[in-house]
Amino acid sequence: MENRWENIVLPPEVTEILSGLHGAGYEACIVGGCVRDIYMGKEPVDWDLTTSAKPDEIKRIFRRTVDTGIAHGTVTVLIENRAFEVTTYRVDGEYKDGRHPESVHFTTDLEEDLLRRDFTMNAMAYDPKRGIIDPYDGRADIERQCIRCVGHPMNRFREDALRILRAIRFSAQFGFGIEPETFEAMKALAENLRHVSMERIRTELYKALAGKVPERLAVLSEIGALPALFPPDIVKVFETGAMHRSLFQAAGLEAVISRLALFLYTAKVSVRPFLRALRFDKKTIYMVEDRVNALAAGVPDTAYAIRKQLSLYGPDAVRDATDILAATGRCTLPEAARLQATYRAEEVNPYRIRELAVDGEHLLAMGYRGRILGEILAACLEAVLRDPSLNELHKLEEIIRKNYIIT
Ligand code: ATP
Ligand code: MG
Repeated sequence: MENRWENIVLPPEVTEILSGLHGAGYEACIVGGCVRDIYMGKEPVDWDLTTSAKPDEIKRIFRRTVDTGIAHGTVTVLIENRAFEVTTYRVDGEYKDGRHPESVHFTTDLEEDLLRRDFTMNAMAYDPKRGIIDPYDGRADIERQCIRCVGHPMNRFREDALRILRAIRFSAQFGFGIEPETFEAMKALAENLRHVSMERIRTELYKALAGKVPERLAVLSEIGALPALFPPDIVKVFETGAMHRSLFQAAGLEAVISRLALFLYTAKVSVRPFLRALRFDKKTIYMVEDRVNALAAGVPDTAYAIRKQLSLYGPDAVRDATDILAATGRCTLPEAARLQATYRAEEVNPYRIRELAVDGEHLLAMGYRGRILGEILAACLEAVLRDPSLNELHKLEEIIRKNYIIT
């Protein structure tokens, strides 16, 4: 097991920060998610550092810093335009609102800092000089693929309900089980999830959906967490089992957007209100919506239908929709492959207004004015979708003159 640490290559910036702190006489190590990821053989997404140095001492050592959360002991150190959060060893005070500690105080004892962290796998630190520091045996829990609270689960979830959601997210992300006592406490305190903001719910949901076993989100329903998290109409969606079934069937789908689209399509909820309630960004909402609509349109069976789909939803959405159809067995793999090839072949034809041989300028020159311009262009596109050979200026002008009177 130990040999996993022998070949660790830390990013040079991280090494620089560790040496800076060590050189000034402080303890310093990497901590939390990045240590867990390295142990699991994954590339860490972000690097968190922890140190016995106090925030003002951290700021004295490094040239470029940002006061990210000084009150909580976090200073961002900038090296080569990369940002690293360095947090002083800390003990959280009493939690009053079920989410945030009333106060924090600094400590010089790393083990005390690790004790405040949520799960054993997230309560490990690593210092190139000292090696792994793992007082709560996070490595053993990773080996047995188990999510377990540091300390007493009831207390830990009572302090911060977000941890309940994080447990489910990690379970979905890594496919790990949840240790029974931890699970029971999640169930007992699920109601406390009311204290968690929609933004945090969205972030965790997204990471779970992107995970190895997204259908573990069904745990939300098993522990009775749904009413505390979502408005009643969304709860209904989850409880129909749509989440569970659709994602399970779609195990072959990698992209979160596709998984979301399939979930919403299967659950028959309207995309926009659901994603808006979860504070998803506009781009994600449009992307999911296009895929859901393309799915609802089903498998196109004529060249026109294919061009029409491209025109309505765009090539990325129709390709993803085809993958979803295949992943859920609604068309066979060879059918899906054929469909993808046809989309590629048809994509060379015009399927957007801006690819038409006529544009607004031409229509103005022909004497048309006002709102009719948009209508004419839409009609031209429809004609060209039906017959791509019509996309020539003189042919379209003829059609336009025949159908639209200049007023
Ligand atoms: P990810 O891989 O998604 O970043 P992470 O575990 O690193 O997961 P972060 O939010 O980056 O999550 O937090 C870094 C570390 O801070 C965690 O590994 C954990 O040790 C600690 N931590 C984060 N959130 C909590 C919390 N709500 N309660 C206790 N400890 C937490
Ligand atoms: Mg992290």
